[in-house]
Amino acid sequence: MAKKGFTTTNLHSDRKSKPEHGVLHKAIHPSVAYGYDDARHLAEVFQGKRPGYNYGRQLNPTVTALQDRVTAMEEGVATIAFATGMAAIASTMLSLLRQGDHVVSSAFLFGNTNSFFSTMQLLGIEVSFVDATDAAQVETAITEKTRLVFVETIANPVTQVADLEAIGELCQQRGLIYCVDNTMTSPHLFSPKSVQASLVVNSLTKYIGGHGNALGGAITDTGNYDWQVFGNILDTYRQGDSQLWGITQIKKKGLRDIGASLGPEAAHHLAVGSETLPMRMDRACANAQTLAEFCSSHEKVNNTFYPGLQSHPQHQRAKSLFKNFGAIFSIDLEPGIDCFDVLNRMDTVVASSNLGDTRTLAIPVAHTIYHEMGAERRASMGIADSMIRFSVGVEDTEDLLEDFQRALA
Ligand SMILES: *Cc1c(COP(=O)(O)O)cnc(C)c1O
Repeated sequence: MAKKGFTTTNLHSDRKSKPEHGVLHKAIHPSVAYGYDDARHLAEVFQGKRPGYNYGRQLNPTVTALQDRVTAMEEGVATIAFATGMAAIASTMLSLLRQGDHVVSSAFLFGNTNSFFSTMQLLGIEVSFVDATDAAQVETAITEKTRLVFVETIANPVTQVADLEAIGELCQQRGLIYCVDNTMTSPHLFSPKSVQASLVVNSLTKYIGGHGNALGGAITDTGNYDWQVFGNILDTYRQGDSQLWGITQIKKKGLRDIGASLGPEAAHHLAVGSETLPMRMDRACANAQTLAEFCSSHEKVNNTFYPGLQSHPQHQRAKSLFKNFGAIFSIDLEPGIDCFDVLNRMDTVVASSNLGDTRTLAIPVAHTIYHEMGAERRASMGIADSMIRFSVGVEDTEDLLEDFQRALA
C-alpha cells in the first residue's frame, strides 16, 4: 500500500494500537497504577523484559497514544511526552549533559529556553549563543567540549530562520547531537529529520494542540544520531538497540527522575487538537501572509518581520525548507507611536501571551515575555520597545484586516 498522507496517518493513528472496544479516540486512562495477576509479570515489566505499564509518572496508555502520533508526524523512532514544552527541553538537557559539557545555541531563542540555558550555565554546562542564521558562526563556536547544538526553526519574535541544513551537515560531520525546536513550524510545515536533526522538540501547547486548552511538550528521536559515539550514555542504558539509548536515558533520567509528566486528560485534548493541524496551519499561514503584507506597506509601521515577505533576509531559505512561512509575525512602529495604544484599539485580536491558538493573539514583547532579559540582550536580538508579536489564528481574513486597519489608522 502507498504511504498515506500526513493528515490521514495522523487521523487514524489511534486505531493502529487496537484501542479498547474499537474506540476511535484513545480512551482517557486516569489510573496511576496497574495491577498484575502474576507478580512475576510485574517484576519483568520493571526490568524491561516485557512491555507494560507500572506507574503513571513514566507511562500512561493515553499518553503513549499521543507519543506514537508525534513520532508518526515527525517520522521518528520514538517520542517522550512531557507536561510542557519547557519540561521536554529541560529534562532532555539535564539527562544528556554533564558538568563541563558545552552547548552551542542559537542566540534567537524562546525566552524561557534562554532562561533555562542560563540555569545550565550555573550548573557548569557552558552555553555559547551565536547567530544561527549563519552556520559558520556555529562552527566557530564549537570546541572539543561541545556535545549539542540547539536551534529553533523560525525564531521568536524577529522570525530569523536558522541555517538548518548547513548546521545539520556540520553536526553530522562532528558527531554532535543536533536538537531542533520545531514548535514554530510544526511537523506539518517542516521535517527537522530532513536536515539531519537528532532530536526534535515540539511544544504541544502551541500548533499541535492548537486550541490553547492544554499544555504539553515532546521530544522525538529521529533515528539520525549514532548514540554509540555519545560518551554520556550511562552503562545501564547501553543495552539493546542503540537507536533507543538516547531516548531511554531521557525517559529514565529526565521523565522519571524529574517527573514533569503529561497527564492523560491533557494528552487527550492535545491528540484531538492535532487532528486538524494541517488545516489550521494552512489557514493561519495564509492569514499571516495577508496581514504581514498589509503591515509592511503601512506608513505607521517601521519594520515587519515575516519569512513570507520578499524583504525577509532568509525568505529564500524559508521557501526552500518549509511548506509555508508560519503564522507568527512581528512589527515595530514608527517613532512616537505607542504599541499599547495600537493593541488597545484592536477588537478581534486579543492581547495575550500564548501562540498557536486558533484565535489571533498579540503581545508587546519587550514589556512582557522579553522583559526579564534586559534592554541590552533585547537590543542584540533586534527587539525594539515598540515591537508587537502576532500569533495569527484562523479567523476570517477580512475581520482581521479590518482590525489592523482600525488599530493603525
Ligand atoms: C512555547 C514554546 C516553548 C515552551 O513550550 P511550553 O509548552 O509553553 O512549555 C518552547 N519553544 C518554543 C519555540 C515555544 O514557542
